[in-house]
Amino acid sequence: MSFKLTLENKVALVTGGSRGIGRAIALEFASRGAAVMVNYNSSPDAAEEVVKQIQEAGGKALSRQADVSDFKQAEALVKFTIDTFGDLSILVNNAGITRDQLIMMMPESDWDAVISANLKSTFNCSKAAVKHMMRKRTGRIINMASVAGQMGNPGQTNYSASKGGQIAFTKALAREVAARNITVNAIAPGFVDTEILKAMNPETLEASLKMVPLGRLCKPEEIAFTAAFLASDGAAYITGQVIGVDGGMAMM
Ligand code: NAP
Repeated sequence: MSFKLTLENKVALVTGGSRGIGRAIALEFASRGAAVMVNYNSSPDAAEEVVKQIQEAGGKALSRQADVSDFKQAEALVKFTIDTFGDLSILVNNAGITRDQLIMMMPESDWDAVISANLKSTFNCSKAAVKHMMRKRTGRIINMASVAGQMGNPGQTNYSASKGGQIAFTKALAREVAARNITVNAIAPGFVDTEILKAMNPETLEASLKMVPLGRLCKPEEIAFTAAFLASDGAAYITGQVIGVDGGMAMM
């Protein structure tokens, strides 16, 4: 038996699909045959551009605004995806933000914002999606964690906690839903060349790159390919795992 990396007849919801890694995942999934709901929060033009690119290549996609840190909006987004495309086979919890600051200077609001956007959003969307996937007895959930959630990063107590939380959430949910043929995995990227890195001090980034054995930034497309693999039929026996795509930074 040999598997093909196709996503034909699958429906995917990518949170934060308007930019960066989420954008690359939306394009990758659509190029492999999935219908894709491109979620965005504050970048309608960027999301529409992703949809246009997919449609021009003959694929199926639609964009939808929702702040996934809000439970009701996340629930409505999942419902809209199922109503529009008739299914939800793959959920990618990719939406995320940073608000970096040493703990002494970190306002409570920055802690709350990061935990809500990165971790609570993962609970919100997964809860709604699992309801549908349990009924269908199949599904894939992919959470975009980070090496920061494995190793910790100074100046990122909020971000590291949110990503570590996503990793623990991945393992717990994987055990809960495995009997229904639903897999739940996390990807832990290292430094990926997207706008999120612009918030980082260039000197800190340069110093951090010295910790990457492969010595370069990751391309968003390299994360997208890993996500496509995890979403494919050939990955049906992988669950509760954290796949590092980090140039060798965190060898766990
Ligand atoms: P990015 O370029 O800044 O894009 C972030 C995306 O998340 C945007 O599409 C944004 O949508 C969306 N988003 C943020 N808050 C949202 C919310 N409340 N509701 C819905 N969408 C929301 O970041 P990225 O680098 O692609 O990061 C994507 C994911 O990978 C994040 O979870 C991040 O933590 C993780 N990651 C990134 C790196 C890296 O080095 N880049 C490393 C490890 C992990 P709008 O623009 O529409 O608001």
